[in-house]
Amino acid sequence: MFIAIEIAAVVLAILTAQDPQPSQPGQSIGHPYSGRLKRPVAFPATSPHHITQSSTRRGRIYFGTDYLVRFLSDTVRRLSETMPGGAALSVGNLSLESGGNIPMSRSHNTGRDVDLGYIVETASGEPAPSYYHSFRKDGRSTEAPKRFRLDLARNWAVFELMMSSSEAELQYFIVAPYIETILIKWAKANGKDPELIRRAEQVMMLPAWAKLHDNHIHARVLCTPEDWAEKCDNGGPVWPWATRMASALEDLRREVVPALASADPAARLAALHTITSRGVGPAVTDVVPLLTDADEKVRAEAENALVALTTEVTAQTVLEAAFTASPKVAARLVAAALPLAGDNGVRTARAVIDGRHPAVTEGVPKKDREKITRFANRLLVSHPIPPDAPSSSPG
Ligand SMILES: [Zn+2]
Repeated sequence: MFIAIEIAAVVLAILTAQDPQPSQPGQSIGHPYSGRLKRPVAFPATSPHHITQSSTRRGRIYFGTDYLVRFLSDTVRRLSETMPGGAALSVGNLSLESGGNIPMSRSHNTGRDVDLGYIVETASGEPAPSYYHSFRKDGRSTEAPKRFRLDLARNWAVFELMMSSSEAELQYFIVAPYIETILIKWAKANGKDPELIRRAEQVMMLPAWAKLHDNHIHARVLCTPEDWAEKCDNGGPVWPWATRMASALEDLRREVVPALASADPAARLAALHTITSRGVGPAVTDVVPLLTDADEKVRAEAENALVALTTEVTAQTVLEAAFTASPKVAARLVAAALPLAGDNGVRTARAVIDGRHPAVTEGVPKKDREKITRFANRLLVSHPIPPDAPSSSPG
């Protein structure tokens, strides 16, 4: 029965896959922490598949870019089509009508963020209304552990549907780290596509700026290329599989990179400015050699560009660049990349603590060394040592 539903879901996904609707440019303005929203579209208060939180309705925090609203509508509709019989999905805050700060959140400023209650089931596996319960490490509700737990199949399905949406490309799926662990364990045990699981391990995260997220999921979508061509700032990772946005960046990279080799320092500088201001992450490898440019301004701008372009996607390259940079520059690059570099960040943190990294040598100001050591310690507390790294403590 379950297999039949899954096959039906795949067929449905193929039948409904279509080109994205054109989205209006100039909606999401700036960065999700500090920007605003233009040409807002209201997400409906209810549908047969969802209900928005009363505080979201009271505060009128239900506006988004047209592509976020279509993405969300598409997700809730396909969830009830592919897994019928569930409770209405609880949708929380999107953005205010003109964007800007909303209560209790650092982001949600530009119409690309949405909060969702985790989907809940009873102890006997019946769907339950998806209030904003918080959940413990065993997946049970903190408030009523005997009655409610995470509905892992449906919460995973929300992720899967968002990853396959043709309306927008998912940038973050923010959940508590232990909830990520439970969801991924469930997906592996239930034969989900290994490539999708690998992507989940990257897209599901708790960024440094976010609260614990033990009671809701926070999803953010990338800018569309049209919106980015205006003033939308992705402000974070553009995953290689987010092909629309990634290829728009690649196009701009190809256009700009030749100028980095220009004999004229002003042309090199201008190219670096473009790469930084447009967030052209794929250009990091092209920028690294300019850390040793003959021109001092170009060197400084190359350093700024690398710091600005450091995301979960580029952090490893930036960390590698730090090994060849001058101690002072290395310190800055490591500070930017360490928290975002995954296992490689953990290995680098180890090297920092052991004094084996150029970012903590004598030439680096004491203040910077202390800062990096603090970052490294914090990272090692929250991350296990990756398997292929030498471990200093036996057992
Ligand atoms: Zn949120």
